[in-house]
Amino acid sequence: MKQRDVIVIGGGLAGLTAAIHLAKNGLSVLVFERHAYPKHKVCGEYVSNEVIPYLNSLGVNLNQLPLPQINQLLITTSTGKEINQDLPLGGFGISRYAFDELLYQKAKELKVDFIFEKVKDVVVMEEMYSVSTRNDSFTAKLVLGCFGKRSNLDQHFNRNFINKPAHWVGIKAHYKHPNFPVNKVELHNFDGGYCGLSLTETNYVNVCYLAKYKSFKQYKNIEDFNENVLRKNKHLNRFFNEAELAFDKHLAIAQVSFEKKERVENDMLMLGDTAGLIHPLCGNGMAMAIHSAKLASEEVLAFQKHQSKPILFENYTQKWKMNFESRMKFGNYFQKLFMHQKLTNFGMAIGSKMPFLVEKMIQKTHGKPIECS
Ligand SMILES: Cc1cc2nc3c(=O)[nH]c(=O)nc-3n(C[C@H](O)[C@H](O)[C@H](O)COP(=O)(O)OP(=O)(O)OC[C@H]3O[C@@H](n4cnc5c(N)ncnc54)[C@H](O)[C@@H]3O)c2cc1C
Repeated sequence: MKQRDVIVIGGGLAGLTAAIHLAKNGLSVLVFERHAYPKHKVCGEYVSNEVIPYLNSLGVNLNQLPLPQINQLLITTSTGKEINQDLPLGGFGISRYAFDELLYQKAKELKVDFIFEKVKDVVVMEEMYSVSTRNDSFTAKLVLGCFGKRSNLDQHFNRNFINKPAHWVGIKAHYKHPNFPVNKVELHNFDGGYCGLSLTETNYVNVCYLAKYKSFKQYKNIEDFNENVLRKNKHLNRFFNEAELAFDKHLAIAQVSFEKKERVENDMLMLGDTAGLIHPLCGNGMAMAIHSAKLASEEVLAFQKHQSKPILFENYTQKWKMNFESRMKFGNYFQKLFMHQKLTNFGMAIGSKMPFLVEKMIQKTHGKPIECS
């Protein structure tokens, strides 16, 4: 089989966006994805508007879906205190089922090739990379690591974070609700975690939460945990009384890690969650994954001219830091604050009197609309 310019490992948001960007600029791209599209994923499905100019520039037409436009945030504590806040930039609700499928169709239109298999190994040779699955091997001049939060490849390459404890579980389902506000994303704190609610294009409400494994494992199952822990927050209790589960069952992921990761490893640029996962309460991991695809693609296109891997690696690492490092840091602080009941109550009391402080906090973890040339 012919050698590609680029192999992308992982066809989530980062991988698909990079594949589109590179194919649009004339490169031959092969994407490996272990699951067929469309597919539901554990994710809050609120996307910051910062991605819109970039996705438009790639010809990704979001307007073909009836996307709820979200410009309000409601935050509540486990004791029921609440703050309503305008979202300075705002966002939209979209299911991963539809979003990944939309990008996949765009990539196919641009003649990106797909193989639906799990990558087992990547070997770096002088002038090229060899990527192997269980059945075959493929070569490319460059490889992008877009394999998400936690993958067999993290284990395979013995990445630093993989041996550290990962304390979180993520749960998601869609619910039918008679009158959930279209323009609002809600973030509800409960003992040991927090839960986001927002509408998607399906008109179902995405209910997605992150919980400490330690508190989760005390209960028999997800229903039991929802009943005994989430419902203690009166806002969540009201929601569950009024809503009806639209999925057959909840989706769950374990061992979610927020440890620092390297942005270049095994001579691969790491994109999206493969380079680091921001705390979901910030609501912009997807925007960062898409933005990192832009940064990486631009450097890959520059590499076609200078052909220097050290320059490629250095430039990408610097740009990643410039764009995301401080957002990750603030995300970390806010998560710690939000998980601490007394501090959250205190913060809410101040925030309700000085809403500009809450707005400042939101801005610290969000980017500006991504500039496109
Ligand atoms: C509980 C929770 C809630 C969240 N809520 C939000 C939110 O509301 N808003 C937001 O912006 N962000 C949210 N996020 C973050 C967001 O989901 C991620 O940042 C985003 O999905 C990252 O995209 P990605 O492309 O890096 O990874 P992914 O979308 O996870 O894609 C990685 C892909 O790689 C594939 N893969 C892995 N290993 C291999 C292999 N060996 N071979 C082939 N394929 C492979 C996987 O199948 C997967 O499709 C949330 C995260 C969590 C955990």
